[in-house]
Formats: sequence, structure tokens, C-alpha cells
Amino acid sequence: MRSPGSKYVFGPVPSRRLGRSLGVDIVPFKTCTFDCIYCQLGRTTERTVERKEWVPVDKVVDELRSKLGSEPDYITVSGSGEPTLHSGIGELIDRIRSITDIPVAVLTNGSLLWNEDVRASLGQAHLVVPSLDAGEKGLFHVINRPHPDVTFEGLLDGLIRFRQEFRGEYWLEVLLLAGYTALEKEVRKIADIASRIQPDRVHLNTSVRPPAEEFAFPADRRRLVELSGLFSPCTEVIADSRVTCPRQESEADDLEIVQMIRRRPCTLLDVSAGLRIHPAQAAKKLNALVHKGRAEVRRAGNRQNYYVAISGKPK
Ligand code: SF4
Repeated sequence: MRSPGSKYVFGPVPSRRLGRSLGVDIVPFKTCTFDCIYCQLGRTTERTVERKEWVPVDKVVDELRSKLGSEPDYITVSGSGEPTLHSGIGELIDRIRSITDIPVAVLTNGSLLWNEDVRASLGQAHLVVPSLDAGEKGLFHVINRPHPDVTFEGLLDGLIRFRQEFRGEYWLEVLLLAGYTALEKEVRKIADIASRIQPDRVHLNTSVRPPAEEFAFPADRRRLVELSGLFSPCTEVIADSRVTCPRQESEADDLEIVQMIRRRPCTLLDVSAGLRIHPAQAAKKLNALVHKGRAEVRRAGNRQNYYVAISGKPK
């Protein structure tokens, strides 16, 4: 269970790839090098390339230590923005590894991997999942809306160099959008770059949760499956979220749920599986949060309802 003052650690949340993932958030809400049109957290409020100790590593580690009893499958450094903007991410990963054997994953947009220090700082992670959402510069700017100092060429260079140096698992995530990149000619360009990067796996995704911009349309799952055949070897489509039933019941307080849906819009079953509470209990708690004005329901392109925290920034 999360202590009431938890600021940096959330979940565990159910993840399509990582099982029950305990999230570690090391940059303030929407501090990112990108402002992606599909971002599930809304528009970027602090678009920057400045690396610094955005939050104290000591406090993150203390909080994490108190949450290890939740038995997550992964500890995932991600959250409210781009985690490699934190200058102490390498120290954080080392310290996590010194207190637990639970594998450490980092989800990154890859924009700072051109920087040797950033690549070195991720060296001790078990798994790194960088993103590549476009096969050419024009669409990269339309979809990811990067900080002016981030270039498409620098992104590709960093993705390739990191693969050459990193000894852990490297999964490349490609998020395709209908009308932009879920097109054969665009996917061929992305697949060509992926073959140069040579990740351990390629995952095809789409904008499942409510996006920052209404014009970021999700791609149809069948279309994604067809397009996955353009990659060699074939890639995996991860766009449909399957959640497992709770293994055991536990209590979850309102603040714990709010912290979770602030970082990622969740369905009722996401909350139930992530926090190991019965779906009926999750429904009751989520509805109460909606009535209290602390959460709202948004319908996504896949016609599922997602619960989203109303107040913007974590307390
Ligand atoms: S999707 Fe990720 S990389 Fe894009 S704006 Fe949101 S947090 Fe940043």
C-alpha cells in the first residue's frame, strides 16, 4: 500500500508488457522533451531539454522501499514526463538494484539518447523501452512536437548508439496513428529504421487512452496486425490491453487511486487488477471519486471508459 504522503511512486498498475508495474515518477507533471499529440497526460506544460535533479533521489528511494511489499513484476521508471531529464536517473537505478531483485525498466521517448551521459546512466537497467513514432522528420514534428533542440537525426543516432552499448533488453515501441503513420508507406520507413537499430523486440501500439489532441486517432487493431508483417522479424501488436483478475483482495485508499489515474488514465479493470481490489470495489471507489469531483470519465476511441484525475499536478 502507498503511504498517504506518496509523491513519486504509484501503482502497481497493470501493464500490457510488464505485468504489475510499480511506477516511479522522477520529473514534475508533464515535464518532457516532447509534446506528443497522442499523450495520455494532456499537453506538455514544461517542454525542456534541461537535465537536473528535478526531484530528490533520496526521497524517491525511501518511498520506493516502503512499496516493495506490493510484489510488483517490474519497477518502472516513467510517469509524468521524460525520465532521462532527471540527471540522477543512473544513481536511482543503481540504488533500486541495491535494495531489491525486482527488475528495473525505463520507458523513454529516446530523445536524449544521443547524449553519452544519458546512455551510460541507463546501463544498469534490466529493460529499456524507447519510442519511435515516425519514419521521417516531417511526421516526427507533427506527432511528437519536440523541443527545438531535439532533432530527428539526433533521435535516430541515439537509438542506434544505445543499442550498440546497452547489454540489457531493448524493446522499441512504435505508436501508430490513423491518418498519419498507420499507412504502409510510413510503416515501411519505420521498419527500415528498426532494422538498423536491431532491438530485441518491436512493439506496435496505438493511442488507446484519451489523447492530448482530438485529432490523434487510434489505428484499428486489425490494421496494426497487417502492418506488423512489414517488420522483419515480425513485430508484436500490444494495442489491446488485457488485464488479469485480481490474485487477492486488498484495500486501496482514494489517494492511491488518484495517484494512479493522474499518471495514466485507467479503466475500471485496470484499477482493479493493478491494486488487487475486486472490480465491484474499484467501481464503487471510482464512482465516489467522480461524485467528489476528483475524477472524471472520458470515452476513448476504442469506446472504453477511462477514469482520469481532475486536479492537474500531483500533490
Ligand atoms: S507521450 Fe511521453 S514523450 Fe510524448 S509528451 Fe507524453 S510523456 Fe512526453
